[in-house]
Amino acid sequence: MISRSFELILTFRNAMHLDQKVSLKALHTFGMEVEARYFVEAKTHSEVLTLLNYRHMIHMPILFLGCGSNVLFTRNFGGIVIRINSKGIVIRDEDENHVHVTAEAGENWDEFVQHCVDREWSGLENLSLIPGTVGASPIQNIGAYGVEVKDTIESVQVIEIDSGKQKRFTNAECQFGYRDSIFKRALKGKVIILNVTFRLNKTGVTGLQGDRVMGNSLLKLDYGDLRPELGRMGVIEPTISDVRAAVCSIRRRKLPDPAEIGNAGSFFKNPVISKKLLDSLQTGFPEMPVYLQSPGDDAVSETFAKIPAAWLIEQCGWKGYRSGDAGVHPNQPLVLVNYGNATGPQILGLANHIISSVEQKFGIRLETEVNVIG
Ligand SMILES: Cc1cc2nc3c(=O)[nH]c(=O)nc-3n(C[C@H](O)[C@H](O)[C@H](O)COP(=O)(O)OP(=O)(O)OC[C@H]3O[C@@H](n4cnc5c(N)ncnc54)[C@H](O)[C@@H]3O)c2cc1C
Repeated sequence: MISRSFELILTFRNAMHLDQKVSLKALHTFGMEVEARYFVEAKTHSEVLTLLNYRHMIHMPILFLGCGSNVLFTRNFGGIVIRINSKGIVIRDEDENHVHVTAEAGENWDEFVQHCVDREWSGLENLSLIPGTVGASPIQNIGAYGVEVKDTIESVQVIEIDSGKQKRFTNAECQFGYRDSIFKRALKGKVIILNVTFRLNKTGVTGLQGDRVMGNSLLKLDYGDLRPELGRMGVIEPTISDVRAAVCSIRRRKLPDPAEIGNAGSFFKNPVISKKLLDSLQTGFPEMPVYLQSPGDDAVSETFAKIPAAWLIEQCGWKGYRSGDAGVHPNQPLVLVNYGNATGPQILGLANHIISSVEQKFGIRLETEVNVIG
C-alpha cells in the first residue's frame, strides 16, 4: 500500500517538478559532492506558497538556497532543497533625488548592481561582484569596500514558513549589524525572503571634498585599495561606473574564483572586541591592526574595536596551510578552500582547529560567517 506521504510526494512532484536525489555540487560555491533528497526551483511567490503547503503535509526539513555562496554542506541533505529563482526589478517610487526599487529574491546580486549602475543609481557600486542573490543580501547584511547593504535597504518582504503569512520588515525591524540581521538570528529558517526594496540615489556631481558628493550620495572611496586602483585606471573624477570597475578589478585580482577553487568567501567574521581586551592584547601584540568602532556601529555597546581575522589567522601560522584538499588560501587567510575533493567535515575540522588556535593565542573566539548545513 502506498503511504500517504509517498502519495503527497508524487502529487507534489507532478505539480512542482520536484527532482529526487539531485547533486548539489554545481549549486554551491564550495563545490562538494553532496546530494539533496529532493530539489525544486521556485520561480514565483505562488510557487513558494505551494511548496510551503506541501511541506506542511510532508514534514521534511527544507533548505532555501540562492547561489549557495555562503553555505558549507557537511553531508547530504535529507529533505527538500528549494532554490529561489524569482525574477523582476520594479521601480516603486522616485523623486528628484531618489529611486525606490524592488528586486525579487532570485535576481543575481551582481547583475542587479550592474542594472543600478547602468541607470546611475548609486549606493550599491562598492558591493559589486559579491556572489549570490538579492534575497540573501539582507541575511548577513553583505558588505565590502566600506559599504553595507543595510545602508540602502528600505524594506524586506518575507513569507513566514509556519503561517504562510506575508510580512514587510522595515530597515529598523531587520536589526542589521556587522554581517548580521534578524534573518540570521531569531528568524533563521523561519521566513523566506521574497524581495528587497532599496532606496538609491540618483547621481549628479554637486561637490568635492575627500569623498565625492554625487547628488545626495557620498561615493565611498577611502576603503582599502579603492583610491589607488582608481588612480591606476587613470580616473580623476570617478563616476559610479568607475567605482564598480575598480571594485571588480580588485576583487578579481585578490579573491579566489569559486569556478576555479571551491570557497565561500570569508569563512570567519572579523571579531569585535571590548576595550579591556584590546588594551591587554596591545601590550603583547603592539603591531596588531585595529579598527576602532564609532558609537552606534553594530549597535552593541560592549564592542569597541574590530580586529582583522585574517591577521589573527596568519599569526597562528595557517596562511597557505593545506591538508589533503582542504586548505587556507595562500593570499587570503580568511578564505578556506576546497582544492578539489575536500569534504564538508574536513573544511569544518580545519575551521575548528583555526578557531582553537586563535583563541589560545589571542583569547578571541572567531565566529563563522558561512552557514554550516549539517
Ligand atoms: C568568492 C566569494 C566572495 C564573497 N565576498 C563577500 C563579500 O565581499 N561580502 C559579503 O558580505 N559576502 C561575501 N561572500 C558571501 C556571499 O556572497 C554572500 O553571503 C551572499 O549574500 C550569499 O548569497 P547566496 O544567494 O549565495 O546565499 P546562499 O549561500 O544560497 O544562502 C545563504 C543563507 O541564506 C539562506 N537563504 C538564501 N536565500 C534565501 C531566501 N530567499 N530566503 C530565506 N533564506 C535564504 C540560505 O538558506 C542560507 O542559510 C562571498 C562569497 C564568495 C564565494
